[in-house]
Amino acid sequence: MQYDVIIVGAGPGGIFSAYELVHADPALKVAVFEAGHTLKQRHCPIDGVKVRKCVRCKSCSIMSGFGGAGAFSDGKYNITNDFGGSLYEYIGKEKALELMQYVDELNCRYGGEGTRLYTTAGTKFKTECLRNDLHLLDASVRHLGTDINYIVLQNLYDDLKDRVDFYFDTPVRTIEQTEEGYKVICDDGQYACQKCIVSAGRSGSKWMQSICTSLGIPTKSNRVDIGVRVELPAEVFAHITDELYESKIVCRTKTYGDRVRTFCMNPRGAVVAENTNGIITVNGHSYEDPSRQTSNTNFALLVSKTFSEPFKDSNGYGESIARLSNMLGGGVIVQRFGDLIRGRRSTPSRMQGCIYYTDSECYTG
Ligand SMILES: Cc1cc2nc3c(=O)[nH]c(=O)nc-3n(C[C@H](O)[C@H](O)[C@H](O)COP(=O)(O)OP(=O)(O)OC[C@H]3O[C@@H](n4cnc5c(N)ncnc54)[C@H](O)[C@@H]3O)c2cc1C
Repeated sequence: MQYDVIIVGAGPGGIFSAYELVHADPALKVAVFEAGHTLKQRHCPIDGVKVRKCVRCKSCSIMSGFGGAGAFSDGKYNITNDFGGSLYEYIGKEKALELMQYVDELNCRYGGEGTRLYTTAGTKFKTECLRNDLHLLDASVRHLGTDINYIVLQNLYDDLKDRVDFYFDTPVRTIEQTEEGYKVICDDGQYACQKCIVSAGRSGSKWMQSICTSLGIPTKSNRVDIGVRVELPAEVFAHITDELYESKIVCRTKTYGDRVRTFCMNPRGAVVAENTNGIITVNGHSYEDPSRQTSNTNFALLVSKTFSEPFKDSNGYGESIARLSNMLGGGVIVQRFGDLIRGRRSTPSRMQGCIYYTDSECYTG
């Protein structure tokens, strides 16, 4: 089969690439190859009651499938150059913001209309943070919620399905350069194209590295974010989350001068497990629909680690830390804040009375 463009990965990167291509030129023959399932078939078996443990599905429905890693992840779209990416390094800050606003318009047009856009502009929290030696980063954030994000993704799929050939449950094994373009090789056959866009996200990052090596494309070591996810009663943070929803607050630690920041806040949300190539970590999300919200808020506290030459394998570094923690805890480790400060384990009896909404496997430790 011959295509003008083949896209690898149906996450936001792949979906919006396909959308732009077929809307700019409807005559283009475009295909999207996705290792995971269709949106409707994406289902994580962990329900927190009967199944609490990751059963290591062949393709993790949290990380893979139409919608990519973000499909069930709160549908928060940050409109800012201050964090979350470095697109502005290539096209400038103004153009990068314009594109983020354009994506926001599309999300609203495809089902997100009426959802709230929060902003840090003019907020009193900036001053309050400064008074406490903290820095609140500037951003606007559209909160679609996991429920509305699903609707937006379904509407985008309905728009694209007759204009683009989608191949689900079809991981691309390798990509070879040919005289006319590229040959994309899957288990069931080979597909030719003139141009190939690889948007494989976190679950495909190791694979992408090997493809870059085989095609002679230079790569550079990216930073890796390491940290914990914090869950607390929603009331504790309500004064911030009700006004800002998501706040990126940065603090410089006194002992080592590390830059620690809050990340991915999920007011009245839940913590979920995700399986990236066999390693279990946690993430969070929440719903727009109040009837599906919980009484807890969760967010991540992260430190960014960058590396200098000759070390290149930032992916491997992060993975090793997560693997070690899985090895010690048999999965995700849960600690009470009080125990962490006292330097002791959180045993099941010490956890009694703590209410947490981790609908996943987790072990005290
Ligand atoms: C639980 C969670 C919460 C998050 N919350 C937020 C948030 O609130 N706001 C935010 O901005 N970001 C959030 N993120 C991050 C966000 O999901 C990512 O920034 C975004 O998904 C990246 O898009 P992408 O298209 O580059 O990659 P991905 O979404 O990872 O998509 C890549 C796709 O490629 C597929 N793939 C990989 N390798 C192959 C292969 N060899 N062949 C075929 N297909 C392949 C994968 O199956 C996957 O579906 C969250 C992530 C998670 C997991």
